[in-house]
Amino acid sequence: MQCSPGICPRPSAGGLVAVAGVQQVAVLGSTGSIGVSTLDVIARHPQQFRAWALAANRSVDTPAAQCREFQPRYAVMMDPDAADTLRAVLAGECDTEVLAGPEGLQQVASHAEVDAVMAAIVGAAGLPSTLAAAEAGKRLLLANKESLVMAGHLLMAAARKAGAVILPIDSEHNAIFQCLPAAQSGAPGLEGVSKILLTASGGPFRSWSADAIAAATPAQACAHPNWSMGRKISVDSATLMNKGLELIEACWLFDVAPSRVEIVVHPESIVHSLVQYVDGSVLAQLGNPDMRTPIAYGLGWPQRIDAGVAPLDLVALSRLHFEAPDETRFPCLRLAREAAAAGGTAMAVCNAANEIAVEAFLAGGIGFAAIPRVIEATLSAVPSVEPTSLGVVEAADRDARDVAAWHVARSGGRPNPGGEK
Ligand code: NAD
Ligand code: MG
Repeated sequence: MQCSPGICPRPSAGGLVAVAGVQQVAVLGSTGSIGVSTLDVIARHPQQFRAWALAANRSVDTPAAQCREFQPRYAVMMDPDAADTLRAVLAGECDTEVLAGPEGLQQVASHAEVDAVMAAIVGAAGLPSTLAAAEAGKRLLLANKESLVMAGHLLMAAARKAGAVILPIDSEHNAIFQCLPAAQSGAPGLEGVSKILLTASGGPFRSWSADAIAAATPAQACAHPNWSMGRKISVDSATLMNKGLELIEACWLFDVAPSRVEIVVHPESIVHSLVQYVDGSVLAQLGNPDMRTPIAYGLGWPQRIDAGVAPLDLVALSRLHFEAPDETRFPCLRLAREAAAAGGTAMAVCNAANEIAVEAFLAGGIGFAAIPRVIEATLSAVPSVEPTSLGVVEAADRDARDVAAWHVARSGGRPNPGGEK
C-alpha cells in the first residue's frame, strides 16, 4: 500500500493558533449520529462556531427542525424532491436557502465562507464532497472513513496541495492523533514510534459462536454494546469490517504500513487507541465512549473545548480488558487486510462490496455470514488497478457494486440500493 505523509499541522512552539471570530461549519450528514453530535457541540459554543450549512439525504423532518434551530445559510438535500419539500416547509420560517443533489453538496463543501467541513455522510456517497473540501483547503473533520479507504492517495494529495488540515474524527484515529509526536514540519510524526495499537470493541458478537453469528439478525447486529451509531457502521462493527476500514484509514492518515498497525480487542471502549514507542512507552487516549469528545477536539483544535461528555470514572470502571481479534469468526478483518496489501483500487472494491452486502443484510435479503462471502467473491472478480483519478476509483466502485449485487442475488437476496435514510 502506498501511503502519503500525514498533513495535519500541530500547534507551533510559539503558541496556539488564535481563531478569529465565529467559525462557519458545514455539517454534511447532519441528521446522522455524527451530524447530530456535531450540532450538539456547536450549540454549546455559539461564540465560536456556527452551523453555516447542513446536508442530508432525503428525509425532511429532521433537517427542517435543524434549520429552525440553527438557521443555517444553506441546507442541502441529496434528493431533489426532498429539497422541494424542505423549501416549502421552511418558507416564511427561516432564510435558509435549500440546495439539491451532489452539486449542492460540492458547493457548500468548498464555499469561500466555510472554515470547517464535518464530513459525516455515510459510505462512498461522502467521497466527492469530502474531496471537494480537501481541494478547497478547508479544515476537514473527517468522520467519513470510506473516503480514505476508497481514495486515500487522492484525498491526502489534494489536502496536501491545498493546505487542508485533516482532523480525524473516528475515535481511534483521533486518539492516535493525540498520542503521536509532532514532527518538525508540524504534522503528526512517527519519530520514535514503533507501532500503532488500534482498539476494537469486538462488537455485539464478540463472544458468540460462529453458528450464532451466522444466524444474527439486523436488530442484533445494530445493538452495539458501547456506541450509538448509524446502522451501516453498526453492522461494520459487528462484522469487524469497521476495524479493517480503520486499519486502512490509519495507514493513510499517519503514513504507516499495515504491518505497523496492530488491532487489539478492548470490550469496554474506554482506551480509544494507543501509540507504542521504541523505548517501551505506550501513550493512550482514554475517555467515555461518546463521539462528542473527538468532534469537540476536531472543532476546537488546537484548543480544548467542552464537549458535554461526562468525566471518566476509573474507579467505577475498575477493570479494562484486552484480547486478540479472531479472524476466523470475523473474516472481514482479514479481507480488509488483504485489500490493503493488494493496494490500488482493491480497497475501493472491498468498500463497495461491503456497502452492498450490508445494505442487503439490513434489508433482510442475505444472512450475516453472507456478508464476507459477497466481499471475498467481489474482491476475487474485480481486478485492482492504480487509482490515478477519481474517475478510476468511481469505475472500480461501480464494477464492484455490480459484481456484489450479483453475488447477493445468488445468495437468495436482493440488493437495496439507496436504502439510507
Ligand atoms: P448515519 O447513518 O447515522 O448518518 C448518515 C448521514 O449521511 C445522514 O445524515 C444521512 O442523511 C446522510 N446520507 C446518507 N446517504 C447520503 C447520500 N447519498 N448523500 C448525502 N447524504 C447522505 O451514519 P453515522 O453513524 O453518523 O456515520 C457517518 C460517517 O461517520 C460514516 O462514514 C461512519 O463510518 C463514520 N463514523 C461514525 C461513527 C459513529 O459513532 N456514528 C464513528 C466513527 C466514524
Ligand atoms: Mg472508530
